[in-house]
Amino acid sequence: MTWLPKPKIAHPQLPKNALGMTRRDYEGVLSTLCAGCGHDSITAAIISAAWEMDLPPHRVGKMSGIGCSSKTPAYFLGAAHGFNSVHGRMPSVATGAYCANRDLIYLGVSGDGDTASIGLGQFAHAIRRKLRMLYIVENNGCYGLTKGQFSATADPDSKSKKGETVPFSPIDPALFAINMGASFVARSFSGDKEQLVPLIKAGLAHKGFAMIDVVSPCVTFNNHEGSTKSYDYMREHEEEIIDLVDWIPPEREITTSYGEGETVDVTMHDGSRVRLRKLAKDYDVHDPVAAGAFIQRRRHAGEIVTGLLYLDRAPRELHDIMGTVDGPLRDVAMRDLCPGSAALAKINASLR
Ligand code: SF4
Repeated sequence: MTWLPKPKIAHPQLPKNALGMTRRDYEGVLSTLCAGCGHDSITAAIISAAWEMDLPPHRVGKMSGIGCSSKTPAYFLGAAHGFNSVHGRMPSVATGAYCANRDLIYLGVSGDGDTASIGLGQFAHAIRRKLRMLYIVENNGCYGLTKGQFSATADPDSKSKKGETVPFSPIDPALFAINMGASFVARSFSGDKEQLVPLIKAGLAHKGFAMIDVVSPCVTFNNHEGSTKSYDYMREHEEEIIDLVDWIPPEREITTSYGEGETVDVTMHDGSRVRLRKLAKDYDVHDPVAAGAFIQRRRHAGEIVTGLLYLDRAPRELHDIMGTVDGPLRDVAMRDLCPGSAALAKINASLR
């Protein structure tokens, strides 16, 4: 694969974040995706989120599998760590990396084929093991890299360019993640940057498994009339239920005012807050059973619900569950890993 570096010329007056970095410092190499691909908009949203959060790029671990979506980590955070794994195997590589070094912020980017077909088992176990990571599914309902065959997230009433329909039931990554125990589940649309950027920020700050299913039209193979993953379809059928208005870091004052009763703040484990505005009166974002039933009801009515769908107020993550040491395991000294033959003899004696 050939990587095309971006020219480093930038306007001298570009705004800088608290680290003295411009947004351009969060870019990667030039994208080789088709012009207009939704995945490039998600890349731009990730760059905005990381820059606005003052994330040091070298503290991020970018993980991906195979597909058009999985090429995108090359296009953002060029100074981050990265691992482009084989098809559907990103979660197990991420598990290994997270076990070895819990100090990095893990951002996985996957596609609907990579996640919902060959990688479905891996996806399920990453959720149930509660990896602390943000897992973004760039969902276009087709395999763009191999000429647009339907994927497992394609809806039965969606039509291919030649008019064929999908014979099988779809897998909804958001419903699946809620059912498997993810503690932060959201859905968004690549064409809605205002919604997507705060969701990515909150997902990166979340202490637990966070998943955002982003409908991201494939302009080459699945953006025609009859497709349910096209720009036009999403604009007509998107129903936002919980608007994540903002993610507010721990040390920052709330300077924006919102109407009383319209918004609610939820404090995260690190003292940051997410500010939510409830758009559907009967929706409880903290109830996974009700959230799943609501999403299914709306799906049967032809609506694709977006926004923050589920948030666990007391999330747990793998290292808490396993009771590991506070720092990265790769930093544990040999003397602590191997307490010596006397200690081993004592353990053996206790088992006789
Ligand atoms: Fe994007 Fe589709 Fe082109 Fe792949 S084939 S880069 S998904 S538009």
